[in-house]
Amino acid sequence: MSDQKIVFLGTGGTIAGTAANALDHTGLTGYTAAQIGVHDLLASLPDWQEGAERYVVEQVAQLDSKDMGFDVWVKLALRVAHHLAQDDVQGIVITHGTDTLEETAYFLQALLAPSKPVVLTCAMRPANALVPDGPQNLLDALAVASSIGARGVTVVCAGAIYGAEEVQKVHPYRLNAFSAGDAGPIGFVEQGRLRLLRDWPRGKALPLLVGLADAAWPRVEIVMSYAGADGTVVRALLKSGVQGLVVVATGNGTVHQDLESALLMVMQHGVKVVRATRCAEGRLLPGVNDALPAAPGLTPVKARIALILALMQAA
Ligand code: ASP
Repeated sequence: MSDQKIVFLGTGGTIAGTAANALDHTGLTGYTAAQIGVHDLLASLPDWQEGAERYVVEQVAQLDSKDMGFDVWVKLALRVAHHLAQDDVQGIVITHGTDTLEETAYFLQALLAPSKPVVLTCAMRPANALVPDGPQNLLDALAVASSIGARGVTVVCAGAIYGAEEVQKVHPYRLNAFSAGDAGPIGFVEQGRLRLLRDWPRGKALPLLVGLADAAWPRVEIVMSYAGADGTVVRALLKSGVQGLVVVATGNGTVHQDLESALLMVMQHGVKVVRATRCAEGRLLPGVNDALPAAPGLTPVKARIALILALMQAA
């Protein structure tokens, strides 16, 4: 355990949400995400005051993460990068809604590839639920962020630690709502101690941070292959100025022939196209004769972020 500073960045989510009824976990009677400030969430943790001088707390945003957008990502990435650059900062905890948590985690890992721990955490129940899950998730995330040797962007939920590249929300209301598929979690937090199963996320930062605040974000959309899929949407997207398309392919990257024709056509117009699979597990294995490029190992939403960043680098 390091005694250096830990930075908490709040962005909202159900962990900061409130419900009119303490038994409402799913919004049946209407709970609202992003109501309580991150300072107040942390102040309610046991023994918080004892270590308070070690903690830096900032509210970067306050939103339901279904509404996450590039503006918040820019603000968050810049604050994360700023704090990571401080010698006396050991790690960062980010509170975030569960809906797009895997996208923010992947974005931060792909952009920053931090050598210190950046830990996103969340809750499936609002803060004022009869038995909220947020406080334990926060304590577990603090344990990971404080751990010497921890690095990269991870997600901590329900006692498990997941890597940004593999993590995915897989359940709409279960407390343990995340999975890393067949990669499995990086490890677990057990009574404040880490039990690691494999190495932390590693990578190389992209040279996009300088100028990110003013950068133009390319328009990249997601289309899906399914029975009866054709090229109508793809042709409409070309007309509307789309710059990149992720096609959510069947099985090991196969695409309906009518949709594929339209995708090949838009590629001739300079639109970048990549395939991801709609299979919940495993990874797409590209073949030598594939007509369309693939994004192996990435879910469609993460393939979209990878393509956005690639287009930004190429600009
Ligand atoms: N809609 C919420 C959010 O993502 C769900 C959650 O946090 O669990 O912000």
